[in-house]
Amino acid sequence: MRTAIYPGSFDPVTLGHLNIIKRAAACFDRLIVCVMINSKKQGMFTPQERVELLRKSTARFPNVEVDYSDGLLAAYARRRRAHVVVKGLRAVSDFEQEVQMAVINRKLNPGLETMFLASSEKYTYLSSTIVKEMARYGADLGEFLPREIVEDVNRRMQELQERKD
Ligand code: ADP
Repeated sequence: MRTAIYPGSFDPVTLGHLNIIKRAAACFDRLIVCVMINSKKQGMFTPQERVELLRKSTARFPNVEVDYSDGLLAAYARRRRAHVVVKGLRAVSDFEQEVQMAVINRKLNPGLETMFLASSEKYTYLSSTIVKEMARYGADLGEFLPREIVEDVNRRMQELQERKD
């Protein structure tokens, strides 16, 4: 069984991520989308909530599993018997850091290859950060987020704004 991992913070999952998930799932027997926990970043959603949003958004893909990890990706991949890490590349600006991570991951786990999928041109501008910014100003998120989670994101933004007032 060929298993790949698609790691990220997914705070929240966007249509750009979903496009990569769909294309990567078509290339492997199983794709594990893994929410990686970065303790330095305080997110809009907790890791468990991000997993739930990803599950809602990927329910129609039978070979996609969603999980989270607070450890090293190289160790997680070994434990899940995955040999490939999938990454999406939006622009050259993503490239330098992603290549550095790929080299480090292979140093830590020599059986682990990183494969890059070029972002669909429709989504090269899209990031979770941009979506959060747009949500803050009440923009219509339907073009940017899986439809299953638009309500969740709007609701959370409202809660966060009410808490601040
Ligand atoms: P973000 O930058 O949106 O916060 P993540 O840290 O969750 O994203 O990213 C996880 C992975 O998804 C990375 O490989 C990133 O390059 C990729 N990715 C993010 N947004 C897109 C997009 N719009 N199109 C293609 N790949 C993307």
